[in-house]
Amino acid sequence: MAQIKLQNVEDYYEIGEVLGSGHFGQVRAVLERASGVHWAGKFLKLRRSASSRLGLEKKSVETEVEILQSLQHANVMALRDVFESRAEVVLIVELISGGELFDFIAEKESLSEEEAIEFLKQILMGVGFMHTKNIAHFDLKPENIMLADKTIPHPHIKIIDFGLAHRFKQGEEYRSLSGTPQYISPEVINYEPLSEAADIWSIGVITYILERMTADECLVHPWIKPLTRKQADNRSRSSINMKSFKKFNAKRKWKMSYNMVWACNRLFRLQLQCKSRSQEDPELRQCESDQEDTETKPASLIRRRLSSSS
Ligand code: ATP
Repeated sequence: MAQIKLQNVEDYYEIGEVLGSGHFGQVRAVLERASGVHWAGKFLKLRRSASSRLGLEKKSVETEVEILQSLQHANVMALRDVFESRAEVVLIVELISGGELFDFIAEKESLSEEEAIEFLKQILMGVGFMHTKNIAHFDLKPENIMLADKTIPHPHIKIIDFGLAHRFKQGEEYRSLSGTPQYISPEVINYEPLSEAADIWSIGVITYILERMTADECLVHPWIKPLTRKQADNRSRSSINMKSFKKFNAKRKWKMSYNMVWACNRLFRLQLQCKSRSQEDPELRQCESDQEDTETKPASLIRRRLSSSS
């Protein structure tokens, strides 16, 4: 397990080219002086004061380190070393030289179902392993799914960026609005208590992008049309999770009623405004119904703003 070192990282590693960058720093190629082995260094700037908006809070870097230390799996980026100075923390991690999975796919002429399934299986194995340790990634998206080496026939998936990951404690209620809008689950948007299931939503979105089928293809998919007796038997034995479904449906109905009441109230208020204005100014016949009511925006609009600013 990596111990946090207080020495200068450059005493141990030669710093090379920039491989990528994120919100809080850069990832650079590094060469271990003692062994000559190539690694990647993730340089994270630390927040200088509590009031500063630049850099990361030390606590969140410590969480990322602690989570990476406990995740040793073939499909998860490995952590080698950690260096800390007053201004930054440097994570020395395995060098992942195959680039992003989606860039690799985009360069190909075609992607067979089998290849897509193989990639998805590896993503699920990595994520499944995290979940057995009560860790959720909370930022699964194509940019964070890389390939160890894209030149080999069956490239190996590596999941990166544990900056938003969280380890659940027994009975803990954890909420967060962070993540990437296209891939975050409804419970993140609704600021509800989260679980590892939020990752499965993101994997669903990624899968949908990889395998978007036509209606005809859907109709012959084994989930609808089993190919073998075993698939048919499995299907007849399994059932939809009715508890989740009923909860979802009740919430949907409640939101519809809420929106209806909100719309009625707004119409009523507009009517009143219209009446009082036409009494003040008899020439005014039209009511400016498209004016923004800033105090009473529908919940869905407020939420969209929150998620897009994260
Ligand atoms: P974000 O702002 O998305 O949270 P971040 O600051 O946490 O990003 P990462 O997502 O971990 O940083 O890395 C930024 C980029 O650096 C990645 O998109 C990838 O291109 C590159 N990168 C990250 N880790 C490695 C690695 N181990 N090997 C090679 N390149 C890497």
